[in-house]
Amino acid sequence: MPDILIIGGGFAGLALAYYLSKDGASVTLLEGGSLGGGASAAPAGRAQIIDSETEEYLDLVIRGVARLETLGEELGVDLEWTLPGHLTLISNDEEWRHFESLVRRLQRHAVPAEMLDIQSLRAAEPYLQAEGFLGAAYSHEGHLNPFKFTAGYAQAARRAGAEIIHHARVIGFEQCDGLITAVLTEKERFSGRVVLMAAGPWMGELAEMAGTSFPMKSTHAEAIVSEKLPRLLHHHIGMTGFYKVVHGAERSVTLGIAQHPNGTLFVSNAVQKMETLDLTSTYWGMPALCRAVRTYFPRLAGARIMRTWAAPSPFTPDYLPAIGWMPGFDNLYVAAGFHLAIPTIPLLAEEAAKSILEFEERPMLAPYNPGRFYPAELPEG
Ligand SMILES: Cc1cc2nc3c(=O)[nH]c(=O)nc-3n(C[C@H](O)[C@H](O)[C@H](O)COP(=O)(O)OP(=O)(O)OC[C@H]3O[C@@H](n4cnc5c(N)ncnc54)[C@H](O)[C@@H]3O)c2cc1C
Repeated sequence: MPDILIIGGGFAGLALAYYLSKDGASVTLLEGGSLGGGASAAPAGRAQIIDSETEEYLDLVIRGVARLETLGEELGVDLEWTLPGHLTLISNDEEWRHFESLVRRLQRHAVPAEMLDIQSLRAAEPYLQAEGFLGAAYSHEGHLNPFKFTAGYAQAARRAGAEIIHHARVIGFEQCDGLITAVLTEKERFSGRVVLMAAGPWMGELAEMAGTSFPMKSTHAEAIVSEKLPRLLHHHIGMTGFYKVVHGAERSVTLGIAQHPNGTLFVSNAVQKMETLDLTSTYWGMPALCRAVRTYFPRLAGARIMRTWAAPSPFTPDYLPAIGWMPGFDNLYVAAGFHLAIPTIPLLAEEAAKSILEFEERPMLAPYNPGRFYPAELPEG
């Protein structure tokens, strides 16, 4: 029986497989489809800073971005790490005031950030059709290749001794007195001293299979990538409103666009309400993204689209990750809900590995304890 049986081979599961194996645990990871084929197949690759929810989380994200500078070397892969910075386009006074306060907060943390008026925005991104915007909030931000992030962790985990099994969908659990005694797939039955659920948007389904619940939320987000083009953009450029759908809209296009070092343009996000978890593109997503690109970057009107895709983007009710022991179980650990996945997962997964193996609470993980979603099960006081 391995020490740790991980369910889910996205960023979170693979990073945990690496840090746990590196620290001497025997690890088996079960992935229902192909590695990194869930939400981790979708990201732009941003290591966002400005969207951090709390001061504590901002500290973590800043340290996480610094950590990404050397992560590729540690994993033995070129993550294509760059620091393009992010421009959040601002169209009204309310947004301006909000982002001004976020910029001031970043400055207090010594993170490069500033408000750009319309002239400075035009100078920063000459191909942007900036009419209608008041300006933008510039914030320091990094970028990497998300496929290499997945592959880097998978290869490093294997080198450290982890066994990784794909196409092994978990369909149920056996349990006795708060212990998960077996994890069932269609073909096989697995066990682990600790069972670690890192199933991203599918956490709710898995928790239900184990006879509990998990308040996982997600939005269905679509993206497109273009052919290689000469250098046209210098920053990640985004609009506000990714969570409009969460707050009642049926669908929204909140343009996020960047040009990767190889010249391709990555364009997200067409977001829509969806009852089921789905990896398929909708009929309206790609045309809507193309229209948005033509509106804001008329110069790109003739660019060819090479690929389009969609995935549920996971988050918890308070937008903070859930990482820790699952209330009501003695050997079930959860690692999910990373909406700022790229900057936070390396630090959180490394710390979680230590916490699991040393049977010790780690202060860094305390704000993200999944127990906050189960107040009735917490001990009094
Ligand atoms: C369009 C888009 C753009 C994004 N851009 C960014 C970005 O720029 N930066 C950023 O940090 N984040 C971004 N995100 C969010 C990021 O992709 C996710 O937060 C992250 O990938 C979540 O990783 P995870 O390992 O928790 O989940 P996942 O990658 O979904 O991994 C969970 C895995 O569990 C597997 N699984 C599920 N059920 C079972 C089962 N029963 N048995 C076995 N395996 C199972 C799934 O197949 C999946 O591979 C974006 C998301 C989207 C959709």
